[in-house]
Amino acid sequence: MLKKIITLIIIQFSFPSTLIAKELNVFACEPEWKSLVEEIGGEKVKAISATHAKQDPHYIRARPSLISKIRRADLIFCSGAGLEVGWMPILIQKAKAEVQPGSIGYLMASKYTPIIDIPKSIDRGHGDIHPEGNPHVHLDPNNIPIIAKELYRRLVIIDPINKSYYNSRYNNFISRWDKSLLEWEKEIQDIKGKNIVIHHKSFDYMFYWMGLNEVAALEIKPGIPPTAAHLNDILQTVNKDTVDLIVVSPYDPPKGATWLSNKTKIPFVILPYTIGGNEESNNLFALFDSSIKILQDALYYK
Ligand SMILES: [Zn+2]
Repeated sequence: MLKKIITLIIIQFSFPSTLIAKELNVFACEPEWKSLVEEIGGEKVKAISATHAKQDPHYIRARPSLISKIRRADLIFCSGAGLEVGWMPILIQKAKAEVQPGSIGYLMASKYTPIIDIPKSIDRGHGDIHPEGNPHVHLDPNNIPIIAKELYRRLVIIDPINKSYYNSRYNNFISRWDKSLLEWEKEIQDIKGKNIVIHHKSFDYMFYWMGLNEVAALEIKPGIPPTAAHLNDILQTVNKDTVDLIVVSPYDPPKGATWLSNKTKIPFVILPYTIGGNEESNNLFALFDSSIKILQDALYYK
């Protein structure tokens, strides 16, 4: 009996709980990064997203449930470039030292991608919420492999035991992405050069990649909601012969777009923007498949 107890004690101490492989906790700010983590990290990661597709990622409340989630995080993965500036600084104070800004567990996607829409002069007094340029970097599909590579590099440093696992998933993801990208490049040929009115500058990376022209924004500046006067100004300059489509995201208030569409007969669509933005968009591949399909359907015969 005593021997059995001693054996049990030895087993207990030979495998302390810290050495038993456990999932990495990833705190993603947006659903697109949660999805990318799951592509590369598979069953070795447990990712949560602080926001969902129907929430404007610029503005959420740093609620207590997010504090308890960020405390556990081994990796924080966000867009950066100011997108989360309204709510991340409070949360990050509650996180571990290993995920503080500047450390390996703090990954901001926009630090690795080209940034567009950088304002010529920064005037925060006017409330522009894109003072560092456009933070919605996930919507250029060319940016995804760049960010995936950095994510893979970080995962291997944080969790070296699973390096070969991450390596095979990373390579698999990149080869599938490259293949899809070639298909998408073909599919967007037919819609190049069309003219679009947007609500917020959420889709600039996607439209830039697609060769679509963004002719007006319903917001006065990024983050400044449309006024009746601004909408009337737009009404004077656009009509259904000069503008092909009005595009909004699932989190934009649709009132301005609906009003302009009713007045001008320019059609309007909601693009998914991120994972969960519509029924089809349940991963990054489906997000681009669905966005292209919606735009093709709306623009091809115009
Ligand atoms: Zn924005």
